[in-house]
Amino acid sequence: MSLKDDIIARIRSDGPMRIDEYMSTCLLHPTKGYYTTRSPFGAQGDFTTAPEISQMFGELVGLSLAQSWLDQGSPAPFTLAELGPGRGTLMADILRATKGVPGFANAMHIVLVEASPALRAVQRETLGGYIVAFVDTTDALPEQPLFLIANEFFDALPIRQFVRDGAQWRERQVGLEGNALCLGLGPALPQPGLRDRIEDTQDGDLIETATGFAATLAPVVDRIHRLGGAGLIIDYGDWRTLGDTLQAVQNHQSVDVLAAPGQSDLTAHVDFEALCQAAAPCAYSRVTPQGVFLERLGIADRARKLATTLSGAARDSHIAAHRRLTHPQEMGNLFKVMGLYPANALPPPGLEP
Ligand code: SAH
Repeated sequence: MSLKDDIIARIRSDGPMRIDEYMSTCLLHPTKGYYTTRSPFGAQGDFTTAPEISQMFGELVGLSLAQSWLDQGSPAPFTLAELGPGRGTLMADILRATKGVPGFANAMHIVLVEASPALRAVQRETLGGYIVAFVDTTDALPEQPLFLIANEFFDALPIRQFVRDGAQWRERQVGLEGNALCLGLGPALPQPGLRDRIEDTQDGDLIETATGFAATLAPVVDRIHRLGGAGLIIDYGDWRTLGDTLQAVQNHQSVDVLAAPGQSDLTAHVDFEALCQAAAPCAYSRVTPQGVFLERLGIADRARKLATTLSGAARDSHIAAHRRLTHPQEMGNLFKVMGLYPANALPPPGLEP
């Protein structure tokens, strides 16, 4: 039975499914989920992420984290963690770039927060030369200073969607029309948690709420606040999103979110306001466009230096990759970076106020 058949059977017996349940079933169903069963990255896969575009991304992220570690007095031991490491490319680039930072490699414990057994296997292989620990959730992060990166992780966490109806809200749900999945709305209900969205919305507007941000960030914030560290969160989205941003991608094309459960990636724009609200008592940086962040960290110099080692098609694709990561019409503006750090420490480099 396909995952779609499973979902249809479940809706038939239990009634319509919330969007967050639909998303988590599609992405992480134990045997038929999207991430659980495949490695979707790169030209042959469904989508390409920044670390898969160029090694420069991970190198600069690594140097920013390592500088924060130095700024905080080189605490040892410490945890170097990544949320949702995909193929492990970003962590591999971070580790290569930070090799020359005195004491860093000796003091670090690498911990990967990854839900997918298929991707854990890929990450283990990519990071073959290193000792790596896997955990399911951030509560299991060690009691150590924590230097953490999350790239395109929060966009995969389930969201709920609500459509405003007067002073009340109707939740968007996945239901059935005959034998086909369809989107519909639940009954109008007061939603005390959405009171602050009455002022910036009108009747009929759709808003999204992230269901897992606070629980995911709480253990991260706790360790950085008490023990030191820094977190870099990079994703597509903006401050307080408005409108339907749920999207499905398959084979680098946008597809209907209901068409192929478990076969297409499902993501939503990240609401950086919600991330910042979950940051206290840590300090958080300005939400900075990825292009600005990478330029401050010196991507132009790094790109020039790498270009001298390349020629022909490899050089052309390197130049295109630099542009893709930083140009405002490519990923430079759509993707944002936010830093978390102890209130008495400096923000990670690239995120200066
Ligand atoms: N950071 C990588 C991959 C991003 S894709 C890159 O930049 O290339 C999202 C990653 O998060 C995948 O590794 C996926 O398996 C993982 N993931 C998604 N939801 C998760 C969850 N709830 N808990 C842990 N890992 C999750």
